[in-house]
Amino acid sequence: MKEKLLISSCLLGNNVKYNGKNNYISGIEALKDKYDLIIICPEVMGGLSIPRIPSEIIESEVINKEGKNVTKEFNKGADIAIDLVKKYKIKKALLKDGSPSCGSTYIYDGTFTGNKIINYGITVRKLLKENIKIYTEKNWMELLD
Ligand code: SF4
Repeated sequence: MKEKLLISSCLLGNNVKYNGKNNYISGIEALKDKYDLIIICPEVMGGLSIPRIPSEIIESEVINKEGKNVTKEFNKGADIAIDLVKKYKIKKALLKDGSPSCGSTYIYDGTFTGNKIINYGITVRKLLKENIKIYTEKNWMELLD
């Protein structure tokens, strides 16, 4: 039986991003030989639409660019991801960096000015508490080793 890997839907080329586009990684299909992919988009799973107004984290709240508080939706999507991790005993996740849900080495600073800060997205914060190892689009090829 193949190991299961949690993966951001947008990295597979699915148009689930806030702007209706994706973050496709060329060659990502190679992962399917080694892993069963458990595909998530926490923001959509939390009930947000495609497209949607972009959001950023301000302290522990998630606020969209129009000032609406969407923390509840972000937490709901993250909790569904945690349920999947527990159900399938997942140990690794490949998630899009920089996202207020999926970011793991940086996110944006909450000013909607493109300024990056070292911090985690909402889903990643919860996954780290479950000791999930997070990979990004920068080091995903290590998953093939
Ligand atoms: Fe991709 Fe995660 Fe954003 Fe969904 S929430 S579009 S999976 S980065």
